[in-house]
Amino acid sequence: MNKFENGFYSFATSCVSPNFESRHSNCDISLIVLHNISLPPFEYGSHTIDKLFQNKLDKEKDAFLQSISHLRVSSHFLIERCGVIKQFVSCNDIAYHAGISSFHGREKCNNFSIGIELEGCDFEPFTEEQYFSLINLLHDLIQEYPSITAICGHSDIAPNRKTDPGYFFDWQRLVDVNLPVDRNGVT
Ligand SMILES: [Zn+2]
Repeated sequence: MNKFENGFYSFATSCVSPNFESRHSNCDISLIVLHNISLPPFEYGSHTIDKLFQNKLDKEKDAFLQSISHLRVSSHFLIERCGVIKQFVSCNDIAYHAGISSFHGREKCNNFSIGIELEGCDFEPFTEEQYFSLINLLHDLIQEYPSITAICGHSDIAPNRKTDPGYFFDWQRLVDVNLPVDRNGVT
């Protein structure tokens, strides 16, 4: 069985977002960026993140959610607290997860990266199920896209703006299974 078809991962639930653009070349994918997200902030399990990435927040009653409903953002993947993986954008396309960013002198990291959101926040640990799904996904991505040479956090490529995936993300778990963590892209 192919683990990827047209850039979509077989073990992910497809949840397509309109917020993407074409990559010039799949050979250009060299970086994976890890994030955390919770919506509403610090709440889990409401599937509101899906709505953000699908431009469907305008129908929400919550004032904060209304206030961000104009954003046109996305990520390739979301790993929920229970370990379920959702995919919004094909890995062969550019998703809008990194914003203004730079990795080893190269700007606009969206153009050459894959974004993975972990449902969570900066103030509590991620779940065992999330690490299990994340590590499998990372190994499969690196096998499918051998041009990937580094994994880092959003805060490592946009340190003045971003703090995710945060203090509680356990980078050592990735290092222990020989994944290419490189958090020194901004020096
Ligand atoms: Zn982020």
